[in-house]
Amino acid sequence: MENNNQNKLNANVDIKTLPSLTCDECKCESFINAYIIKRVSPLLTETGKPGFLPIPTFACSHCGHVNVVLDPTKTNNIINTNGG
Ligand SMILES: [Zn+2]
Repeated sequence: MENNNQNKLNANVDIKTLPSLTCDECKCESFINAYIIKRVSPLLTETGKPGFLPIPTFACSHCGHVNVVLDPTKTNNIINTNGG
């Protein structure tokens, strides 16, 4: 039995058949790299100073809107700051 891993694309998938994600605001289909930057409380940093936590995401290339599904800060994902 194979694991049902949704992130792993089957090699036989034809991307022409896949629906494109569109901007929630303007329906644009292309996105650019963007960062959401969270302010981190001094209580949560190792240095005891306020910090910033950049979170990579994608923004609409037309209007700059970040869809909620692309925004880890608006979902329940745990952000792992130790990776990378
Ligand atoms: Zn847009």
